Amino acid sequence: MRLLGSLGLLAPLSFLAVWLAMPAAIDSLFDEGSRSIVAALVGGTMGVSLTAGIVFTYVRLRFRHVIQAAERLAAGELGIDVGSKPSSRGLEGRLGRAIDAISVSLTETTDAATIDKLTGVSNRQTLLAELFAEVERANRYERALSVAFVDIDHFKNVNDTYGHAAGDIVLRGVAQTIHANLRASDQVGRYGGEEFMLLLTETGVEEGANLTEKLRILVARQQFEIAPGQTVGVTISIGIAGGKGGVLRTDTLVRDADAAMYSAKALGRNQTYIFAEPDEDARVPRAPISPAGRLLAMQVGRAARDAATASLTAFISPLPHYRGQPSALIASIVVAMAQNLDLPEAEVDRIRTAALLHDVGKVAVPSEILDKPAALSSAEWRTVVQHPRIGQVILEQAAALKEAVPIILHHHERYSGHGYPFGLRGNDIPLGARIVSIADAYDAMTNDRPYKRAMSHNAAIQELRRHAGTQFDPELVNLFCDLFASVAPVPDPAILAMTSGAVAMAAVHPPARRRRRRPTDRATGEGGSKASSVAG
Ligand code: GH3
Ligand code: MG
Ligand code: MG
Repeated sequence: MRLLGSLGLLAPLSFLAVWLAMPAAIDSLFDEGSRSIVAALVGGTMGVSLTAGIVFTYVRLRFRHVIQAAERLAAGELGIDVGSKPSSRGLEGRLGRAIDAISVSLTETTDAATIDKLTGVSNRQTLLAELFAEVERANRYERALSVAFVDIDHFKNVNDTYGHAAGDIVLRGVAQTIHANLRASDQVGRYGGEEFMLLLTETGVEEGANLTEKLRILVARQQFEIAPGQTVGVTISIGIAGGKGGVLRTDTLVRDADAAMYSAKALGRNQTYIFAEPDEDARVPRAPISPAGRLLAMQVGRAARDAATASLTAFISPLPHYRGQPSALIASIVVAMAQNLDLPEAEVDRIRTAALLHDVGKVAVPSEILDKPAALSSAEWRTVVQHPRIGQVILEQAAALKEAVPIILHHHERYSGHGYPFGLRGNDIPLGARIVSIADAYDAMTNDRPYKRAMSHNAAIQELRRHAGTQFDPELVNLFCDLFASVAPVPDPAILAMTSGAVAMAAVHPPARRRRRRPTDRATGEGGSKASSVAG
């Protein structure tokens, strides 16, 4: 077409140029009569060609942006807006609007296929596709890459307590908080139920952990509004793995970040845990517990909780009714109501315990005030209204039992990483667990066991020293030896009373005792001593 157009213009132009340059030659070709016909033909052809050229250029200019938009759309670009006015009825306007409409529906279809509806972040397939691409890129250019797993702590409780709809609001809130606070190059997606995965490009694990710590603190500070005036807060546990590109593997990164996340949970939740390579020959890897073992553990644990409740109620029972005596009637009423509301069993239990103990804080209100028959002065009233807060403090002290969980969980880890159940190594093992493991071993060595005879105190000290640095924390073995090398340890009478079941409320007013230097005094405590667990 273009060739035809050019010929239509150029042929008569060349003919005209020859005619002007050599009129004699042309005149000799045509007689007088034909010359005017030839002139008319040349002029007409030129006119048509010129008009066609102008029309072609005009159309090209007018449609250029629409065509470019269509080309960008075809290349996969989303969110194209040609900007045609809705009122324009011309071909250009109609074509522009059609391209806009195609772009909108393409964007919607792509979103539906790649974004998780509930949380508004990438869905699992998209996230995994991105992960493969990022691992490929990191390996090709030898760039660092980190992968983090984020899991909401005790999220089941949120659902059980406030309902699934509230859980959904919190889930979306957490996803959006993370999404809004990531760097532009990072990505977040929903990996599963209440679990998210972060892809941190060009980022090593240490830098990644700093970033996830910021996210963790942001989430912990946030309150999510689940109903007008009612808010809920949650915490998250994060596991992170990664390294420099070259030998990174997608499956290993996912597995390690997931394992690190479980370590963060095991160490008390609400923290970031950096994956640490366990020893190749770790003999006991992660040890899941059997269903029968779990059932028994639940029964024993519940019995312990009931014993704690009974112990607290026994403490307030002797007080007159108006001083907060636990009421079986109140407890029975709340249980009936909670069951009628179809609340989960754990929630019914919780409400029953609270009903029994709701006025326990009144033990700290002087009897002159509680027994006063007349109206209370404003100073006395200020004392009375403290009882819910005092109740809170009492219960928090009782609940401190839970803080022993990480120590119990890790007391069979070994300093070299060969222990169980997680194969944690060195300072990754909570300080309390490293201490308990030494004392436990000493006790086992110096007492008869069905399978072996007791060894002497000195032999036990030698044995501890022999395994310092492999089984035990060497610094703590030194401390043990400093404390007990010349005098063997003996049980503290107050602790002995606890183990023989003779714990009395006398513990509320303990006898004045000489304070001994405790082994823990030299350390900063659990959180400060953990190398890999970034926060607690
Ligand atoms: P932790 O991770 O701290 O060990 O405790 P958890 O209670 O969060 O752990 P678990 O994995 O037992 O429970 C996860 C819960 O997440 C169970 C499930 O009801 C909830 N969940 C998963 N997906 C959704 C969802 O889309 N919406 C809501 N509301 N809840 C969800
Ligand atoms: Mg969870
Ligand atoms: Mg989970």
